[in-house]
Amino acid sequence: MTSQKRDRSDALSREARTLTPGGVHSNVRLAGPPVFFDRGEGAWLYDVDGNDYLDYLLGQGPNFLGHAPAKVNDVVAREMRRGSVFGAQHALENRAGELFLDTVRWPERVRFGMTGTESDQAALRLARAATGRGKFVRFEGTYHGWLDNVLASTEDGVTSPASAGQLPHHLDDTYFLPYNDAASLEATLAAHDDIAAVILEPVMCNSGVIPPRPDYLARVRELCDQHAVVLIFDEVITGFRLALGGAAERFGVTPDLAVYGKAMAGGWPVSALAGKAALMDLFADGVVHAGTFNSSVPACAAVIATLTTLREEPPYEQVEKHGSALMDQIRELAHTYALDLRVQGLPAAFHVSFGPQEPVHDHSGLAGLDLERYQRLARTLVDHGMWVAPRGIWYVSTAHGEHELDVATSRLDAALAAET
Ligand code: PLP
Repeated sequence: MTSQKRDRSDALSREARTLTPGGVHSNVRLAGPPVFFDRGEGAWLYDVDGNDYLDYLLGQGPNFLGHAPAKVNDVVAREMRRGSVFGAQHALENRAGELFLDTVRWPERVRFGMTGTESDQAALRLARAATGRGKFVRFEGTYHGWLDNVLASTEDGVTSPASAGQLPHHLDDTYFLPYNDAASLEATLAAHDDIAAVILEPVMCNSGVIPPRPDYLARVRELCDQHAVVLIFDEVITGFRLALGGAAERFGVTPDLAVYGKAMAGGWPVSALAGKAALMDLFADGVVHAGTFNSSVPACAAVIATLTTLREEPPYEQVEKHGSALMDQIRELAHTYALDLRVQGLPAAFHVSFGPQEPVHDHSGLAGLDLERYQRLARTLVDHGMWVAPRGIWYVSTAHGEHELDVATSRLDAALAAET
């Protein structure tokens, strides 16, 4: 364990606040402790004061292969010698597209982008164009990026803009429903004929990592088919993390469109919208999707190297093993310290909080949990060399092994001892 002296981080943090609002370049980071990192390697992060942290945040998910994976970064460095963006096509795009489609299997076309936020927008626009309808259904507690028509917070069942400066009417095109409740979706689709799409996180990772109830996704698929509504899976977290084919493969339900990001490029900024040709080809027939940096050389190289690595050495069993063992350790330590610490979700991504042990099935269930108490624990964990998010989601990478499990257990133990 480290001494956690953070003088250099503190100085950089003071300087950063004079350069960028709040000292951070993404508001999500405002909630985290002001640590400045020097480097990452595998499952580990090292800050500028020389402290080490076992990382269960993985940069909010992208570092599924661990930090600085040589198998990816070496390929990117080599390919980038030829240039970066051409404002035209290059052969690596085809190799990346081919490998992507062959790996995910169900889609027939793919468009690469930079972020999940923009690929989600492309998916919604495409669904509107294809159906000639304007509205969409989504679920309380999901996250589909930070733009005006999707950024929302739900308190006591009331959904409203989550940011100052957001125009409330941008949310008027959305029907917000509870996740995991097929009956409410059935009623909404029956009552309204203006719905272009249903968009959902197949596992609601952004709110308590809530898995779908058995048959929920299959029922959503069935209802979308009945009403000729486009089904969009937002697989930005689940894609390539739960299985090579993401949640669609894991739960055996195929959407019409899906959005990918995070785990697909070994830490590089790449997203993708993929789907059936009949829908996707509208991008060549009147529906606009653009981006200066889309399918850059480093992006394509990163996708190729990451998917090749995942295909050659599928890490899913190992990630499940580490995640399950860690979830068990957290439960065991909670028992030892008589704490109502709780864990739910999947081994590759799970949620830690305080509250009743019963599983939560939708966003309203989170109200019964003590999320603030977990935020305090997350601070203590950081002070004990565990890099975890205040909002409770833990990610496991392919670089987390036996040694990391031992370290995690002893650091958790020390943090919980300090808390009680
Ligand atoms: N969709 C989901 C499910 C996400 O979790 C996120 C980001 O966390 C996004 C979309 C937005 O992706 P990005 O941050 O790359 O814009």
